[in-house]
Amino acid sequence: MGERDRPKQPKLDTPGDPHAVLTLLGTGTSAGVPLIGCDCATCTSVDPRDRRLRTSAMLRFTDARGVRRTVLLDVGPDHRQQALAHRIDRADHILLTHSHVDHVWGLDEVRRYNALMGTSIPVIGDARTIDEVCRIYAHIFDHARNTNDSWVADLAAIRIAPGASLDCHGIRATAVPMLHGRLPILAWRFDGQGPLFPLVYATDVNGIPPESWNHLMGTRTLVLDGLRFRSHPTHLTIDQAIDAAARIGAARTVLVHMTHDILHERDARKLPQGVEFGFDGLELR
Ligand SMILES: [Zn+2]
Ligand SMILES: [Zn+2]
Ligand SMILES: [Zn+2]
Repeated sequence: MGERDRPKQPKLDTPGDPHAVLTLLGTGTSAGVPLIGCDCATCTSVDPRDRRLRTSAMLRFTDARGVRRTVLLDVGPDHRQQALAHRIDRADHILLTHSHVDHVWGLDEVRRYNALMGTSIPVIGDARTIDEVCRIYAHIFDHARNTNDSWVADLAAIRIAPGASLDCHGIRATAVPMLHGRLPILAWRFDGQGPLFPLVYATDVNGIPPESWNHLMGTRTLVLDGLRFRSHPTHLTIDQAIDAAARIGAARTVLVHMTHDILHERDARKLPQGVEFGFDGLELR
């Protein structure tokens, strides 16, 4: 059966959803674009693709029982704004790449999903990331010690070993070890049904450890760090990202975490076929 002949409705007796969508909630570097107090060409651009909230993403799909699911990939400081823009009303899993401010400083906001869903939310990351999150959010993870009994998120912290997988309501998520400078972090690979998969989400990387390559094989959709053209000690440059994308061989590679050095319209012309700049709100399916 060709892709064009796929049934319009998801088949609900098989796991996964051929209509799964990955939405880029933010595609900017840690300070966001525009940069505060900057009047460069990008920061004053009227092209909406040059306005970049902090990098994170959302995978939406319908599970085998017909329930709509939402998996969040990092929850950064712009999460409230992203949630309102995309009408996010639940989080079935939160998968973290690492604990830098621009990737986890929105976790307070998910208390609203707890209220809407009436359940705790599993937050999954490597041991270092979860330890950091528990320290930063002591008022959530050790709430018995709060002075007042205030409204805080209900999160279940789960440490995952690099290379291990978990089931997200029928979609398999695998924690893929990556390097962010000297810091070991995670990329996430998703295996499910439909043209989006296998999908790899790899932000804040500049090194791929040898043991991770087998997790990247067969990737169809790749979301990859591509900071800027100038070199950086902890992020892939655009040229390095293009090289990595060529080695991984995904049909579609979308770069994220760009600084204000990148002016979308001007610089997109410099990318080879199959590689593109992401922008806030871009939906991959
Ligand atoms: Zn970052
Ligand atoms: Zn600027
Ligand atoms: Zn980072």
